[in-house]
Amino acid sequence: MTKNADPTTLDWFGCATFRLRTAGLTIMLDAYIDRMPEADGPRDDDGNHLSAASIKECDWIVVGHSHFDHLWGAETIMANTNATLIASYESVRVMEAAGVPLDRMICVGGGETIDLGSGVTVAVYPSQHSCVWSHAEMDGPGTECLGDLNVLWHERQERFAKLGAYLASLGPDAQAHLAAGATGHSTRGDGGALVFVFETPDGSIFYQDTSGHWQGVLEGLNPDLALIGAAGRASIDGEPIQGSLAQFVARQVELLGPKRVILTHHDNWMPGFSAPTDTGPIRDAVAVADPNVDFMELGYIDATPVLPI
Ligand SMILES: [Zn+2]
Repeated sequence: MTKNADPTTLDWFGCATFRLRTAGLTIMLDAYIDRMPEADGPRDDDGNHLSAASIKECDWIVVGHSHFDHLWGAETIMANTNATLIASYESVRVMEAAGVPLDRMICVGGGETIDLGSGVTVAVYPSQHSCVWSHAEMDGPGTECLGDLNVLWHERQERFAKLGAYLASLGPDAQAHLAAGATGHSTRGDGGALVFVFETPDGSIFYQDTSGHWQGVLEGLNPDLALIGAAGRASIDGEPIQGSLAQFVARQVELLGPKRVILTHHDNWMPGFSAPTDTGPIRDAVAVADPNVDFMELGYIDATPVLPI
């Protein structure tokens, strides 16, 4: 493969949403762009949050799982572009219900490699969602969190229902946002979390939009750049991490062996539910795991060159 004249760039839209530009392609990583008024996120010149409707150019969309803060917006981007969606069977079901034609969507479960054109491919791997059912207090990314092991499915469901009741107790802005987001949200769970590895002429990129993994799946993937989920109580092989979020990110750096790391999902994307994350403890833990890794922090939508390294 030949090197491109332009470097590969990333635009961060907040939460775990990015626009990847590589080899002449525009690829959305997740599709969630609209926000409630007081949330963090990129804004236009008038101070308003951007909308998925602002995306007029897109070739591909990959979505890591079927929650609204990842999938919602794909139906709008697809209505305004010729993009093809690559996502789980459940995400595709939700998008079909939202009116997206089936022939513009590719269902994946992990194990597939798709040719995106221009010398770019994406490989799909099975992954894990963070343990949203675990209610142990999370006092920042450096705080170790223990317990909640061997919690069975029914109890996890009961705890998850309490989370739903909490969300229903948030203010009118949050309710309006959740109601709008229901267009692109599964009521049947996360739909099976996925991670992706892009091979581009400029290098390889690992993309993850929630803090969980199967250790055996990640070991030895060796991407040049790793986008790592940094929110909530992380899942390792189906159980909540016995440690901190910072330790999860560091553990994942050890498994993946990237040259450069960028975090995902760590801004205050839905105040009342999310909180801004102090990246300091994560940066420190990553430096201990591998002192040679470049820990890069992006602003919103600044077309940061990320590859080649
Ligand atoms: Zn989620």
